Amino acid sequence: MRGTAVIAGAGIAGLAAARSLTAAGWEVQVHERHPQLSTAGTLLGLWPAAWAALERLGIASALETVSLSSGELLRPDGRVLVRLALPGTTRGVGRMDLLETLLAGLPEGTVRWSSPASSPAALPDADVVVAADGVHSALRARAFPAARLRDARVVAFRGVAPLETREGFEAWGAGLIFGRAPSRAAAATGTPASAPTSRGPAGRMRSRSSARSTGTGPRASTRCSPPSPPRRWTGAASRTSPR
Ligand SMILES: Cc1cc2nc3c(=O)[nH]c(=O)nc-3n(C[C@H](O)[C@H](O)[C@H](O)COP(=O)(O)OP(=O)(O)OC[C@H]3O[C@@H](n4cnc5c(N)ncnc54)[C@H](O)[C@@H]3O)c2cc1C
Repeated sequence: MRGTAVIAGAGIAGLAAARSLTAAGWEVQVHERHPQLSTAGTLLGLWPAAWAALERLGIASALETVSLSSGELLRPDGRVLVRLALPGTTRGVGRMDLLETLLAGLPEGTVRWSSPASSPAALPDADVVVAADGVHSALRARAFPAARLRDARVVAFRGVAPLETREGFEAWGAGLIFGRAPSRAAAATGTPASAPTSRGPAGRMRSRSSARSTGTGPRASTRCSPPSPPRRWTGAASRTSPR
């Protein structure tokens, strides 16, 4: 045994760190606040560096069979701007497929579910503590109180529609992006859209209505989906990143 590590968060970062440390001979415990893997999210676009990291973790071949290796970037009117079909460029991997594959290779009992990590002191003793509890990390706030989130002034909306498809695309408009991707969790299709915000909540609302009024998303999506609107909208969140 090389050492002991406690990891807060069973997201992509936490599980990848757990896989890596376990493979290197560390004894690892992961503390996740939820009772199971998160089912949120649809498809992640992974660029070659991310794919190379998955190869080093030994899980790229398992994900190869469920990943999308092609996709399209569209103009707002639905015309194709570029086709991403070459091996070695971006790949689309379902968030749940990625999380489940990362989890599957860990020794039984590594993840303690329903186990929130509110502060480093509340965690078991270990040589290393890894704060992988997401963008609103409670551990980072305790360990680095001066760290602040920076508002990226982009807002994202995600809707779910009952469509059968294995294709994904992104349509790039002026200041707006609309995309569609298969979503295993919803047995349907996710329809994320994002737009820059101006200052504060009022700006976010303006972005939301401007996305609707320019019709960027619907125009692009009619190329390969029925004209019905998304069945339900599952949330809107401002993208933020640690400074
Ligand atoms: C709209 C959108 C689209 C994106 N698209 C892409 C993409 O195409 N490709 C890409 O690579 N990235 C994409 N990203 C970014 C990607 O989602 C994140 O980089 C990634 O999820 C970060 O992983 P993480 O493990 O650090 O955090 P998270 O995925 O947030 O995981 C954190 C985990 O910690 C747990 N947790 C939180 N607090 C505690 C606590 N106190 N105690 C215990 N557990 C806790 C949470 O429940 C969760 O399981 C996108 C992000 C957004 C918002």
